[in-house]
Amino acid sequence: MRLKTTRQNDRQLFVSVKLAEVCNLACKYCYFFEHDDHSFQGAPVYMSREVVSAAARFLADGARDLGIKTVEVALHGGEPLMIGKDRMREVCDVFADVLSQTTTPRIAVQTNGLLLDDEWIDLFAERGVGIGLSIDGTKADHDLSRIDKKGRGSYDRVIEALRLLQVAQEEGRIPSYGVLAVVAPTANGAETYRHCVDTLKIDNIDFLYPQLDYLTGTAEGASHIDRFYLEVAEEWLKDNNPTIRIRTLEMIFRSLLTDDAAAWRLNYIADTLEGLSIRSNGDVCADDSIPPLDKRFRDEKTSVFSGTLKEFYAQPVWTLLREGLLDFDRQCSECEWLGLCAGGPPENRFDGETFSRSSIYCESYKSLFERIYGYLAQSFATDELRSRLTFARQNLMQLEAC
Ligand code: SF4
Repeated sequence: MRLKTTRQNDRQLFVSVKLAEVCNLACKYCYFFEHDDHSFQGAPVYMSREVVSAAARFLADGARDLGIKTVEVALHGGEPLMIGKDRMREVCDVFADVLSQTTTPRIAVQTNGLLLDDEWIDLFAERGVGIGLSIDGTKADHDLSRIDKKGRGSYDRVIEALRLLQVAQEEGRIPSYGVLAVVAPTANGAETYRHCVDTLKIDNIDFLYPQLDYLTGTAEGASHIDRFYLEVAEEWLKDNNPTIRIRTLEMIFRSLLTDDAAAWRLNYIADTLEGLSIRSNGDVCADDSIPPLDKRFRDEKTSVFSGTLKEFYAQPVWTLLREGLLDFDRQCSECEWLGLCAGGPPENRFDGETFSRSSIYCESYKSLFERIYGYLAQSFATDELRSRLTFARQNLMQLEAC
């Protein structure tokens, strides 16, 4: 899927590489280990050297064939650090070396922090690998879901990892780090924000919507998220501190302020929809969030050993995804925020058959867009903001299959 209009040369590919199909935590909401898809049971625990090399080649060739300028590799699991430091060094070096032959690689790791130490931090720093840490807000909210195999909360151990990252940043050993937090069912947005910003001193965080669709979600759960994000937004706007980055809010903010950012967001949406995942055995699947939705998305695979990225995108599963995602229901078609929202991520639009419905988090998006629009309207001409919404909508309508 591409935008016909701006920034065609900035196409990015997001790839989640499952280095370890094993984890040292047992988070209750984990879509990989705690869902219907039990394919990890037959997969290698760790990705072999042979698969790593073939995966890097597959992506490099695909980037060249499809004109992809940047490949973002997220080293994932399970828990990717379980692969060990020696293997991780090799993995980072192979992806960087092979991908740089045809594209610009960006490599990042997402960890639960339990194994993180200074040696790990320096290993990633030396290779320019970005580090993301998972912390679900307050101790009570975090420990509700992010438990180990003995049922114990992991908050205290993760905070030790956070402190190591903060010291490394203060000492100039890493430029930055990021935090991802899944919104807990009990969480209060203001309390979570203040805890992260004031107590934990985190300045780069994103709050992730739980992976719910029309089969697994409830109106009550979705309305909790609606409240949560508005509470976060209120605190963030009150702080009015540009050094505190909340990715979701910042994207909305910037998209309303400049045409470039609005176009960038649409490209980001298109690129995200094409995201893929490489399993430890070399199978290539749609982005991690898609296979758990339905068996159809697990059955169609390409292997890094036998297929190409172009062939992968030609599979019927992608037609279903593309058609569904661009076939907006009436609610989305008539929505004034369509250009910024695009109906939301696919995993929250699935109803058991198609992706055509508006997101289960629709009300949350609407209230966030309205709040941030209202905030900006105090300082900027509403004509200007409105014209950007129109621009974003027009760009969205020009998305086409690649
Ligand atoms: S806010 Fe809701 S209705 Fe509007 S585009 Fe997003 S999902 Fe669709």
